[in-house]
Amino acid sequence: MTSLKAITFDLDDTLWDNSGVMARTETGHYGWLLEKLPAWLAERRWPSWELSVEAGLEDYLKRRQRLATDVPERRGDFTWLRLRALEAQLEAQGLPRSAAALWAAAAMNEFHRLRVQVTPHPEAADLLAALGRRYRLAAITNGNIHLKRHPLSGYFPVAIAAGELLTPKPDPKAFLTALARLDVAPQNAMHVGDSWEEDIVPANQLGMHAVWISEARSTALPEGVHQIAHIKELPGVLARLNAPY
Ligand SMILES: [Mg+2]
Repeated sequence: MTSLKAITFDLDDTLWDNSGVMARTETGHYGWLLEKLPAWLAERRWPSWELSVEAGLEDYLKRRQRLATDVPERRGDFTWLRLRALEAQLEAQGLPRSAAALWAAAAMNEFHRLRVQVTPHPEAADLLAALGRRYRLAAITNGNIHLKRHPLSGYFPVAIAAGELLTPKPDPKAFLTALARLDVAPQNAMHVGDSWEEDIVPANQLGMHAVWISEARSTALPEGVHQIAHIKELPGVLARLNAPY
Protein backbone atom coordinates (compact mmCIF):
# COMPACT_ATOMS: atom_id res chain seq x y z
CA MET A 1 0.00 0.00 0.00
CA THR A 2 1.39 3.35 -1.05
CA SER A 3 0.94 6.14 1.45
CA LEU A 4 -0.02 8.63 -1.18
CA LYS A 5 -1.46 11.79 0.34
CA ALA A 6 -1.27 14.47 -2.34
CA ILE A 7 -1.37 14.82 -6.11
CA THR A 8 -0.05 17.85 -7.97
CA PHE A 9 -1.06 18.59 -11.55
CA ASP A 10 0.40 20.49 -14.41
CA LEU A 11 -2.44 22.33 -16.22
CA ASP A 12 -1.78 23.10 -19.91
CA ASP A 13 -1.79 19.99 -22.11
CA THR A 14 -2.40 17.88 -19.03
CA LEU A 15 -5.99 18.76 -18.08
CA TRP A 16 -6.85 20.36 -21.43
CA ASP A 17 -5.40 20.73 -24.89
CA ASN A 18 -3.82 24.17 -24.91
CA SER A 19 -2.80 24.73 -28.52
CA GLY A 20 -6.08 26.18 -29.85
CA VAL A 21 -6.70 28.50 -26.96
CA MET A 22 -3.17 29.94 -27.09
CA ALA A 23 -3.49 30.75 -30.79
CA ARG A 24 -6.90 32.36 -30.28
CA THR A 25 -5.66 34.32 -27.28
CA GLU A 26 -2.55 35.54 -29.07
CA THR A 27 -4.36 36.95 -32.09
CA GLY A 28 -7.50 37.80 -30.10
CA HIS A 29 -6.06 40.19 -27.53
CA TYR A 30 -3.77 41.88 -30.05
CA GLY A 31 -6.61 42.21 -32.57
CA TRP A 32 -8.74 43.72 -29.80
CA LEU A 33 -6.04 46.33 -29.12
CA LEU A 34 -5.73 47.30 -32.78
CA GLU A 35 -9.49 47.45 -33.13
CA LYS A 36 -10.01 49.77 -30.14
CA LEU A 37 -6.97 51.99 -30.27
CA PRO A 38 -7.40 53.92 -33.58
CA ALA A 39 -10.64 55.67 -32.50
CA TRP A 40 -9.06 56.66 -29.19
CA LEU A 41 -6.01 58.10 -30.98
CA ALA A 42 -8.22 59.92 -33.52
CA GLU A 43 -10.30 61.49 -30.74
CA ARG A 44 -7.13 63.05 -29.35
CA ARG A 45 -5.86 63.99 -32.82
CA TRP A 46 -2.76 61.89 -32.16
CA PRO A 47 -0.85 60.28 -35.02
CA SER A 48 -2.64 57.19 -36.30
CA TRP A 49 -1.43 53.62 -35.66
CA GLU A 50 0.86 52.37 -38.42
CA LEU A 51 1.46 48.67 -37.66
CA SER A 52 -0.68 45.94 -39.22
CA VAL A 53 -1.80 43.02 -37.05
CA GLU A 54 0.82 40.77 -38.68
CA ALA A 55 3.72 43.21 -38.38
CA GLY A 56 2.59 44.21 -34.90
CA LEU A 57 2.43 40.61 -33.67
CA GLU A 58 5.88 39.89 -35.10
CA ASP A 59 7.36 42.97 -33.41
CA TYR A 60 5.54 42.06 -30.14
CA LEU A 61 7.05 38.55 -30.20
CA LYS A 62 10.56 39.87 -30.89
CA ARG A 63 10.24 42.33 -28.01
CA ARG A 64 9.20 39.51 -25.65
CA GLN A 65 12.11 37.33 -26.76
CA ARG A 66 14.56 40.19 -26.29
CA LEU A 67 13.16 40.98 -22.83
CA ALA A 68 13.41 37.32 -21.79
CA THR A 69 17.10 37.40 -22.76
CA ASP A 70 17.80 40.79 -21.17
CA VAL A 71 15.92 40.00 -17.94
CA PRO A 72 16.50 36.25 -17.59
CA GLU A 73 14.93 35.98 -14.13
CA ARG A 74 11.63 37.02 -15.76
CA ARG A 75 11.89 34.55 -18.65
CA GLY A 76 9.03 32.43 -17.31
CA ASP A 77 6.81 35.32 -16.23
CA PHE A 78 4.84 35.55 -19.45
CA THR A 79 2.34 38.13 -18.22
CA TRP A 80 5.15 40.51 -17.26
CA LEU A 81 6.95 39.94 -20.58
CA ARG A 82 3.78 40.64 -22.56
CA LEU A 83 2.87 43.71 -20.56
CA ARG A 84 6.34 45.25 -20.89
CA ALA A 85 6.61 44.34 -24.59
CA LEU A 86 3.22 45.91 -25.35
CA GLU A 87 4.07 49.06 -23.39
CA ALA A 88 7.35 49.41 -25.30
CA GLN A 89 5.66 48.86 -28.66
CA LEU A 90 2.94 51.40 -27.89
CA GLU A 91 5.54 53.95 -26.81
CA ALA A 92 7.59 53.26 -29.94
CA GLN A 93 4.43 54.03 -31.94
CA GLY A 94 4.25 57.45 -30.30
CA LEU A 95 1.96 57.00 -27.32
CA PRO A 96 2.98 58.78 -24.12
CA ARG A 97 4.15 56.43 -21.37
CA SER A 98 0.96 56.73 -19.28
CA ALA A 99 -1.27 55.96 -22.27
CA ALA A 100 0.99 53.06 -23.29
CA ALA A 101 0.72 51.59 -19.78
CA LEU A 102 -3.06 51.98 -19.81
CA TRP A 103 -3.55 50.29 -23.20
CA ALA A 104 -1.06 47.51 -22.48
CA ALA A 105 -2.92 46.71 -19.24
CA ALA A 106 -6.27 46.76 -21.06
CA ALA A 107 -4.94 44.41 -23.76
CA MET A 108 -3.64 42.05 -21.07
CA ASN A 109 -7.04 42.08 -19.41
CA GLU A 110 -8.45 40.90 -22.72
CA PHE A 111 -5.60 38.35 -22.92
CA HIS A 112 -6.61 36.84 -19.57
CA ARG A 113 -10.31 36.83 -20.52
CA LEU A 114 -9.47 34.74 -23.60
CA ARG A 115 -6.74 32.64 -21.95
CA VAL A 116 -9.11 31.04 -19.42
CA GLN A 117 -11.45 29.84 -22.18
CA VAL A 118 -9.93 26.37 -22.14
CA THR A 119 -11.99 23.22 -22.60
CA PRO A 120 -10.92 20.64 -20.01
CA HIS A 121 -10.88 17.01 -21.07
CA PRO A 122 -14.43 15.73 -20.43
CA GLU A 123 -13.21 13.31 -17.71
CA ALA A 124 -11.16 15.91 -15.81
CA ALA A 125 -13.79 17.44 -13.52
CA ASP A 126 -15.17 14.12 -12.22
CA LEU A 127 -11.65 12.76 -11.82
CA LEU A 128 -10.52 15.77 -9.76
CA ALA A 129 -13.70 15.71 -7.69
CA ALA A 130 -13.10 12.04 -6.83
CA LEU A 131 -9.39 12.56 -6.14
CA GLY A 132 -10.15 15.63 -4.01
CA ARG A 133 -12.11 13.44 -1.60
CA ARG A 134 -9.04 11.26 -0.92
CA TYR A 135 -6.00 13.43 -1.64
CA ARG A 136 -4.80 16.99 -1.22
CA LEU A 137 -4.58 18.53 -4.69
CA ALA A 138 -2.44 21.28 -6.13
CA ALA A 139 -1.88 22.84 -9.55
CA ILE A 140 1.65 23.79 -10.61
CA THR A 141 1.86 25.61 -13.92
CA ASN A 142 4.50 27.45 -15.89
CA GLY A 143 1.76 29.09 -17.93
CA ASN A 144 0.06 32.39 -17.19
CA ILE A 145 -3.53 31.25 -17.09
CA HIS A 146 -5.45 33.04 -14.31
CA LEU A 147 -5.33 30.52 -11.44
CA LYS A 148 -8.68 31.55 -9.95
CA ARG A 149 -10.61 31.96 -13.20
CA HIS A 150 -9.93 28.79 -15.21
CA PRO A 151 -12.75 26.20 -15.32
CA LEU A 152 -11.09 23.67 -12.95
CA SER A 153 -9.73 26.18 -10.42
CA GLY A 154 -12.24 25.12 -7.75
CA TYR A 155 -10.59 21.69 -7.42
CA PHE A 156 -7.21 23.08 -6.41
CA PRO A 157 -6.92 24.48 -2.89
CA VAL A 158 -3.25 25.14 -3.71
CA ALA A 159 -2.22 26.63 -7.05
CA ILE A 160 1.25 27.79 -7.99
CA ALA A 161 2.21 29.97 -10.97
CA ALA A 162 5.85 28.92 -11.18
CA GLY A 163 6.79 31.51 -13.79
CA GLU A 164 5.44 34.38 -11.73
CA LEU A 165 7.38 33.04 -8.74
CA LEU A 166 10.42 33.52 -11.06
CA THR A 167 11.21 29.83 -10.63
CA PRO A 168 9.62 28.11 -13.63
CA LYS A 169 9.69 24.32 -13.70
CA PRO A 170 12.02 22.36 -13.87
CA ASP A 171 13.25 24.48 -10.93
CA PRO A 172 12.24 22.39 -7.90
CA LYS A 173 11.09 25.44 -5.91
CA ALA A 174 7.53 25.40 -7.28
CA PHE A 175 7.20 21.71 -6.32
CA LEU A 176 8.67 22.32 -2.87
CA THR A 177 6.35 25.30 -2.34
CA ALA A 178 3.33 23.18 -3.29
CA LEU A 179 4.44 20.30 -1.04
CA ALA A 180 5.01 22.69 1.88
CA ARG A 181 1.58 24.22 1.44
CA LEU A 182 0.02 20.75 1.20
CA ASP A 183 2.07 19.67 4.22
CA VAL A 184 3.19 16.48 2.49
CA ALA A 185 6.62 14.88 2.05
CA PRO A 186 7.71 14.30 -1.57
CA GLN A 187 7.56 10.51 -1.24
CA ASN A 188 3.88 10.80 -0.28
CA ALA A 189 3.03 12.90 -3.32
CA MET A 190 2.55 12.37 -7.03
CA HIS A 191 2.99 14.86 -9.86
CA VAL A 192 1.11 14.51 -13.14
CA GLY A 193 2.25 16.39 -16.24
CA ASP A 194 2.97 16.24 -19.95
CA SER A 195 6.50 17.64 -20.06
CA TRP A 196 9.35 15.21 -19.49
CA GLU A 197 11.82 18.02 -18.71
CA GLU A 198 9.59 20.34 -16.74
CA ASP A 199 7.28 17.92 -14.93
CA ILE A 200 8.69 14.43 -14.74
CA VAL A 201 12.44 14.99 -14.26
CA PRO A 202 12.13 17.43 -11.32
CA ALA A 203 9.33 15.45 -9.62
CA ASN A 204 11.36 12.25 -9.94
CA GLN A 205 14.50 13.94 -8.62
CA LEU A 206 12.57 15.14 -5.57
CA GLY A 207 11.41 11.59 -4.89
CA MET A 208 7.77 12.15 -5.86
CA HIS A 209 5.81 9.63 -7.86
CA ALA A 210 5.49 10.98 -11.38
CA VAL A 211 2.92 10.31 -14.07
CA TRP A 212 3.94 11.33 -17.56
CA ILE A 213 1.14 12.05 -19.99
CA SER A 214 2.59 11.22 -23.36
CA GLU A 215 1.90 9.13 -26.38
CA ALA A 216 5.64 8.72 -27.01
CA ARG A 217 6.93 5.17 -27.18
CA SER A 218 9.14 4.65 -24.19
CA THR A 219 10.79 1.51 -23.01
CA ALA A 220 12.61 1.92 -19.71
CA LEU A 221 11.20 4.56 -17.38
CA PRO A 222 13.01 5.46 -14.15
CA GLU A 223 11.64 3.95 -10.96
CA GLY A 224 8.62 5.85 -9.70
CA VAL A 225 7.69 7.14 -13.15
CA HIS A 226 4.55 5.94 -14.87
CA GLN A 227 3.31 6.74 -18.34
CA ILE A 228 -0.24 7.19 -19.58
CA ALA A 229 -1.57 8.63 -22.83
CA HIS A 230 -4.43 10.59 -21.26
CA ILE A 231 -5.46 11.91 -17.86
CA LYS A 232 -8.44 9.52 -17.82
CA GLU A 233 -5.99 6.62 -17.31
CA LEU A 234 -4.78 7.99 -13.96
CA PRO A 235 -7.07 5.73 -11.84
CA GLY A 236 -5.28 2.75 -13.42
CA VAL A 237 -1.92 4.03 -12.15
CA LEU A 238 -3.38 4.51 -8.67
CA ALA A 239 -4.73 0.96 -8.78
CA ARG A 240 -1.28 -0.38 -9.73
CA LEU A 241 0.18 1.50 -6.76
CA ASN A 242 -2.53 0.12 -4.51
CA ALA A 243 -3.59 3.67 -3.78
CA PRO A 244 -7.30 4.26 -3.23
CA TYR A 245 -9.43 6.08 -5.81
MG1 LIG B 1 1.93 21.18 -19.66
